Amino acid sequence: MRLNWRDLGSVRAETADGSVVEIDGFAATALPSASATHFILTFEPGCCPGCFPRDRSASVEVFASSAVPLRGQSLRLAGTWRLRRDHPAGWRYQLHDARLLDPPGWTAVTRRGILAAGPLMCLAACGAGDAPDTTAQRQTDGRRAIEAAPSVDMHSHAGGIASPQRVTAGFFSPVGQPMRQGGMAAVCLAVVSDGPTHHVTADGRIHPFREPAVGELYDYGQLAFGRVHGLARDQGLSVIKDASGLRAARAGTASAIIAAEGADFLEGKLDRVDETYAKWALRHLQLTHYRVNELGDIQTEPAVHGGLTDVGAEVIRRCDRLGIVVDLAHGTFDLVQRAVSVATKPLVLSHTSLTEHPRPYSRLISPAHARLIASTGGVIGVWPPASVFGSLTAMATGMARMVDVVGIDHVGLGSDMRGLVGPSVLPDYDHLPGLAEALIEVGFNVADTAKILGGNYARVFEACMV
Ligand SMILES: [Zn+2]
Ligand SMILES: [Zn+2]
Repeated sequence: MRLNWRDLGSVRAETADGSVVEIDGFAATALPSASATHFILTFEPGCCPGCFPRDRSASVEVFASSAVPLRGQSLRLAGTWRLRRDHPAGWRYQLHDARLLDPPGWTAVTRRGILAAGPLMCLAACGAGDAPDTTAQRQTDGRRAIEAAPSVDMHSHAGGIASPQRVTAGFFSPVGQPMRQGGMAAVCLAVVSDGPTHHVTADGRIHPFREPAVGELYDYGQLAFGRVHGLARDQGLSVIKDASGLRAARAGTASAIIAAEGADFLEGKLDRVDETYAKWALRHLQLTHYRVNELGDIQTEPAVHGGLTDVGAEVIRRCDRLGIVVDLAHGTFDLVQRAVSVATKPLVLSHTSLTEHPRPYSRLISPAHARLIASTGGVIGVWPPASVFGSLTAMATGMARMVDVVGIDHVGLGSDMRGLVGPSVLPDYDHLPGLAEALIEVGFNVADTAKILGGNYARVFEACMV
């Protein structure tokens, strides 16, 4: 049987005592280690080496049959579940004879993919997994969820539109075809406003490497918005400009909401919000990205402004008046706090995931950060980096954790398609049925799965349009 983190503390985890179970999680060891046979499994990565979870009833003590490689990413383990009521250190749950089910770095292997791969993989998966008829029911329910409401990706660079080289060359990879195949009805297709001025550094992270010239990012924005519209024309994507446009979007059709990651093309000039709304149909604006711009501070660089600037506050007011969704991804906690006090419409934070203790310069957010967004009636998009979630099931569990913090009406999907530095467990839209199935698997019903996959964003989008 499969156990999820939400099962811990419930009757399901108690009655599993003695059974062979599967569970996904992150390893914590007392000292930094490349591999281990004895470690603690937790829902989320530890904040530093040697950091042990405080809540021992929400962790699993693991005894592996052979050394498990630990490289910081999510692990899927199978083993015998044991309940301990009298452990001197307080561990309540143990996994004995544990073994790694998938090699580290594996991506997007759905149950269906495993079953289709043939009998050898099936031995590994079916032995500890679910009966095929249950899998078929989950697939059917997932498909019903995709068809119940427009599925929306809150944050995407599908086609490769984040790449300054591709924007300049005007060549993009397929978007419409995988959307139609997977049932993704609409994507917020985001130009990357500060693309020419940042790059990946030796530490594997993205940092700005130079200041832009005056007018440079405005000119780049014009080119990039033009290219996105060209992509939409070439691939038959409808451009959504109002609430009725998104209401009409359905699985099997493909639409785009024109978005920007970073408002750097404004160069602090408010009238350019109106200009971009009218000229390029901008309907979703993320205020900041990898450069501390005129609007406010970012999570990945030292704070300069103390949060949202006065210009940033004015941009939010202008977006609320015109009908543009305001996205606070990449902004600092302080930026979000002031934005919440300024906004008159629901706010979104399109691509992130939850952690109890965000490390310095992390893109993840704390429960308090998430609750601020939800307090406006908004939505937080959970993302799919393989370094955070090792499988679609782990990602669905991450979405469930976010639901536990902010409620079912405030969680969505933000893939950051073609924008992630490393691999993704949702590498293209034809994998959407696998995510829907995983959400059903971790315990959501069809209606709630539909909310997460797009219904919640559609509600916010409608509230923001005027
Ligand atoms: Zn981003
Ligand atoms: Zn992005």
